[in-house]
Amino acid sequence: MSGAAAGPVLVINSGSSSLKYQLVVPDTAEVLASGLIEQIGEPTGRVTHTVGGQSHVQEVAVADHGAALSSLREQFALHGPDLDEVGIAAVGHRVVHGGPDFSDPVIIDDALLAEIEALSPLAPLHNPAAVAGIRAARARFHVPHVAVFDTAFFAGLPEAARTYAIRAELAAEHKINKYGFHGTSHEYVSGQAAQELGVPVEDLNTVIFHLGNGASASAVRGGRAIETSMGLTPLQGLVMGTRSGDIDPSIYMFLHDVAQMSIAEIDTELNKRSGLKGLCGDNDFRVIEDRIDRGDAAAQRALEVYAHRLRHYLGGYAFALGRLDLVVFTAGVGENSGLVRAAATSGLEHFGLHLDSERNSVRSKQARIISTDASPVTIMVVPTNEELAIARKAQKLVG
Ligand code: ADP
Repeated sequence: MSGAAAGPVLVINSGSSSLKYQLVVPDTAEVLASGLIEQIGEPTGRVTHTVGGQSHVQEVAVADHGAALSSLREQFALHGPDLDEVGIAAVGHRVVHGGPDFSDPVIIDDALLAEIEALSPLAPLHNPAAVAGIRAARARFHVPHVAVFDTAFFAGLPEAARTYAIRAELAAEHKINKYGFHGTSHEYVSGQAAQELGVPVEDLNTVIFHLGNGASASAVRGGRAIETSMGLTPLQGLVMGTRSGDIDPSIYMFLHDVAQMSIAEIDTELNKRSGLKGLCGDNDFRVIEDRIDRGDAAAQRALEVYAHRLRHYLGGYAFALGRLDLVVFTAGVGENSGLVRAAATSGLEHFGLHLDSERNSVRSKQARIISTDASPVTIMVVPTNEELAIARKAQKLVG
């Protein structure tokens, strides 16, 4: 390898029951291999390793994150590329919650791992899984490991935006405030959009909608986030695939007292059985769009509730920014559903948003403008790439 070319970065996104990985060259964005290990801890599991456009699937039980990392190594040994030959420069780990202390990416050592573990009460579903994945990966890859926090882009939110109106002492004692998530994606997309437009990111006021299974909005002024829709946890904000997003907080008490549900049951209800799924029984917008085409009233209502929330945030964030230049849609729904984009932005010409319905209906994997040439506010679709963003941050840190 030439001295100038940096080695690829192995990016690991470790969830409680699944682990995603990607071997990516930060400079060129080339993906050398990617994979998904599913049903960790269950009696049956599946490992999918994709290289050169071909997927290799193995049905195998994966006991824990240690076994998942062993499977990962095995997949590379079986199907390539040869990890010794490519020379991994670093392993980049997605860590959901950085709490109040972490914003920049950091090289992981034992002390840092203990600190990430100590943040688990703030992210009980996510951080323990990341810690297990990091531990297992460090035992197998003797290169620098870098933690990239999903909360980082929002660490600088203005005080007024990050503060909940609860008793200040209580909030301080338990570190309760708005942290925000999907930050790596919001930051990446904001930079990509500026690059695509040929405008310095410092000159743009942008509202970004990251609409995947989880969904969040952000308001970005000159490259810095000033608002975001997720909160202490990723439950707040937009209507999501299976999460309710914003609700009256008293619904918790109401369900407990009146519906006799336990706190754990309510948590599951709001995280796993609400959102689009709760409204119409499906959480995949491909299915929902099909049902709408066939005149299904519940699916139509789910779209309307979803879009109503998007417009609520769009309006609020435009005013928080004071001037709106750009609206960007990204992630699975945002990149693919013209129906959702139209429902969120049509009829807003008075506020400077002129959606071009023909451009909006084009299917493409490229970043593109979907507003008219004369639209005072530009509307765009920009594909996100969190793995590449993590790989680049890791590369930058390890030099
Ligand atoms: P996450 O990373 O949060 O799991 P993604 O960003 O991959 O999610 O988005 C997944 C969602 O994207 C799917 O559940 C589906 O609703 C939506 N989606 C994917 N492809 C399409 C499509 N062609 N049309 C409409 N929605 C789509």
